[in-house]
Amino acid sequence: MDIAIVGGGAAGLATAIFAARLMPSRSVVVLDGADKLGAKILMSGGGRCNITNRVVTAADFRGGNPNAIKQVLAAFPVARTVKFFQEIGVELCEEDDGKLFPKTNRALTVLAAMLGEVARLGVRVLHGQRVTNVRRIASGHHISAGAVTLSAGNVVLATGGQSFPKTGSDGSGYKLAGELGHTLVPPTPALVPLVLDGGFHVPLSGISHDVELTVQAAGWKPVRVHGELLWTHFGISGPAVLDLSRHWHRACLERRAVTVFANLVPGEDAASVEGRLLTLASAQPRVQLHNALARLLPARVADSLLDALAVPGTTPMAHLPRDARRKVVQALVRWPLPVLDSRGYSHAETTAGGVPLAEVNPRGLDSRKCPGLYFVGEILDADGRIGGFNFQWAWASAWVAATALARAVKPDGLAAE
Ligand SMILES: Cc1cc2nc3c(=O)[nH]c(=O)nc-3n(C[C@H](O)[C@H](O)[C@H](O)COP(=O)(O)OP(=O)(O)OC[C@H]3O[C@@H](n4cnc5c(N)ncnc54)[C@H](O)[C@@H]3O)c2cc1C
Repeated sequence: MDIAIVGGGAAGLATAIFAARLMPSRSVVVLDGADKLGAKILMSGGGRCNITNRVVTAADFRGGNPNAIKQVLAAFPVARTVKFFQEIGVELCEEDDGKLFPKTNRALTVLAAMLGEVARLGVRVLHGQRVTNVRRIASGHHISAGAVTLSAGNVVLATGGQSFPKTGSDGSGYKLAGELGHTLVPPTPALVPLVLDGGFHVPLSGISHDVELTVQAAGWKPVRVHGELLWTHFGISGPAVLDLSRHWHRACLERRAVTVFANLVPGEDAASVEGRLLTLASAQPRVQLHNALARLLPARVADSLLDALAVPGTTPMAHLPRDARRKVVQALVRWPLPVLDSRGYSHAETTAGGVPLAEVNPRGLDSRKCPGLYFVGEILDADGRIGGFNFQWAWASAWVAATALARAVKPDGLAAE
């Protein structure tokens, strides 16, 4: 084969399509360990697949090298993603926060269209072929996958990270990369719900509201995320928590003392919240404290908070002692979230860490360690926030690698797109 792509998820399928379009006369094969391709595409975005976002910049990602991320994203902007999906029959529509979904609201539309294009282009797909070894040989690479062995001039590792390992992305790609000379930025789960100690969250299970979350780790600038928090039976979830989770994990990985707290009245600070309570107390002195707080956050959260502080919620505002008021105000703007752990890779939407971007050329995502080796998608050390950014990374990195492959495999110039 001219090009063997290990892993047929979002990034691997997109690489196969782009490479086959750019080099119609070259042989492209995709090997995947799973029996059915695209499990993660199907489960993404609650089964609706948040394909990309209206605006994607390097600031939406974390990872080792913002400049490399920027370069990859610039090579395949969002408009190209929209055009690509239109070409294969998937119209997109925009929702809150710029998220773009297929108009059908079904992730299956996305997967079926990609698999259809892969078939139309004559890409060979080998299912149930988990690659266990990739070895460099004089003419390229020798690949072992169960009973199948093949050689290929170029290999693309598109094996994803470690999140949702039952989909087939179990981190085995890191081992393959290591055997070919690469190091690894230690992986941790990212975009993952957090498990809390204590029982504060339990009766609030199912309630979601706007918060500002902060991770404070020794030696770091505080990391803040604004968005929705969902209380659950095990702790907390929701977009703000998912976005914050990677920072908690990275702080633990670096063995830093770390605390997490929530401002339950986002956009306000202690002085402004106290001002609001004082204004209310003079305008409506008989309003009870818990009713006053229910104007700022969900009533059940307010009640639980007052219970935890042992401040009676029925106290009329005019009779609320100064100390109690200050205690409530402090709790509202800095409510501690005793994080025990995250829910781990089996509940993480992505993986932080991976193959260092410093070990690939950002113009082609070709390895600086091993000729003829390329990396795309989540296996690389770049993780996006919630909102379609991880898929945009998959499409953009696929394009960058495919065009580099076309330059390498076909030095006489690119075929018309
Ligand atoms: C529940 C959930 C919801 C998500 N929702 C969204 C969303 O709406 N929007 C968004 O942008 N992102 C979302 N993501 C993240 C997104 O799905 C991933 O970032 C993206 O799928 C990564 O693509 P990838 O191709 O790099 O890896 P993967 O999709 O993980 O694909 C890797 C493939 O490689 C195969 N493989 C692994 N090792 C081997 C091996 N040794 N040999 C052969 N094959 C191998 C696997 O079987 C798999 O098919 C979600 C993730 C999850 C888990």
